[in-house]
Amino acid sequence: MANKEMKHSKNIAGAWFCTDPDDDDGEGCIACNVCYTGAPDFFAEDDDGNAFVTKQPTTDEEVALCQEQLDACPVASIGSDG
Ligand code: SF4
Repeated sequence: MANKEMKHSKNIAGAWFCTDPDDDDGEGCIACNVCYTGAPDFFAEDDDGNAFVTKQPTTDEEVALCQEQLDACPVASIGSDG
């Protein structure tokens, strides 16, 4: 589960977030590019390739698309309960 205490500073406010790559619990983003290539309207990469949320999903379809990225993230770095 993504650590709510270690959010990336660029996440737009809302429930969905990515965690900071420096999360000591091992749940930090590893810049694998899954989420921002899979859902570029909602996730973007910073200068280091680490992900953050740019837009909160609102419709069922948007939530489903973001949930796919959450499920696919190899290090549990995406949360939807922030
Ligand atoms: S899928 Fe996870 S590890 Fe990969 S870029 Fe997105 S937040 Fe980072």
